[in-house]
This record gives sequence, structure tokens and C-alpha cells, in this order.
Amino acid sequence: MLKVQSSIEENRQKGMLVRRIENGTVIDHITAGMGIKVMQVLNLLRTEHETIAYLMNAYSEKSENNRKDVLKISGRYLTPEEIDVISVFSPEATINIIRDGKVVEKRQVQVPKKFVGVLSCPNKNCITNEENINAEFITIQERPIVRLRCLYCERAFDPVLALDFTRNG
Ligand SMILES: [Zn+2]
Repeated sequence: MLKVQSSIEENRQKGMLVRRIENGTVIDHITAGMGIKVMQVLNLLRTEHETIAYLMNAYSEKSENNRKDVLKISGRYLTPEEIDVISVFSPEATINIIRDGKVVEKRQVQVPKKFVGVLSCPNKNCITNEENINAEFITIQERPIVRLRCLYCERAFDPVLALDFTRNG
């Protein structure tokens, strides 16, 4: 906690690169380079509503390579399912809920044992794609990278490498 406090102070002194948001969500400690995947899976690349700041390769004390991505999404709060799916790309990410300019809640993402309805199976021949039913996946590995298995076709895959697995394309 002290460490978090002092790095907040440090940021304040250095001057933030991007203005803080008044209401919305800050996804911090995203694995460097994964911010774009997080935006894709949250369907933020096509949004016309939210203002989004994407910091790539920001300085991080916590990560091994001292780099992280940060996403600031103004005017949007994430559902528990959306928070779960972020863990697929960034198991170390933290979610900060901002209301009236203050962090009212901070939580670490966790890789769930199961994903239902938030991802599509990368196997084109999977029945979930053919009949447009909600795919379900179980987590078969959490670290160093997440691996999932489809409960319908049993294909195991690494979602970071699978190009076509998000429900909205
Ligand atoms: Zn499948």
C-alpha cells in the first residue's frame, strides 16, 4: 500500500502524461503491448461513446521489464465478466473505479476457472460458431500465459495468439 501511495505521489510530481478522469475505469498494470488486445476484447475499438486514453509502455516499478500499458476509459464501468476476460491478456492488471475524480474501488483481476459467453472459439468448425451458441471455456493454465480449452470442441488454445476469438470480431 505504501508503495502504491508513493508512486501516485511520484506521478503527481512528474506531471501525469494524460489527465486523470472524473468518472470511469482505469485499467492499470496491463502487460506492455496487451492494451490493444484488452481494447479489442472489451469492444472499445469501435466505440463512439467513451473517451479512451491508451498509454503504451508507461514506466512500471512492478513489472519485470519496467513497462506496462494503461487504459483510461471515461464514462464506462466494467461488468465482472469483462474484468475476468482482461485476465486472459494481463493476469497482473488492476482495475480502478473512479467516481468524482477519486478511486473508490481498486481490484486485482483474477483468472477465472471458466469463461462463459465472453469469448468465441477460434475453431471455425466448432458448433458454437456454427449455431451461434455461447461458447464455454475452462482455464487449463494460468501462468506464464493463460491457456483455455473449449468445452464443446475440446480445442486448447492460447487466446493471446488466437486472432479470432472475440465475440464481436
Ligand atoms: Zn470450440
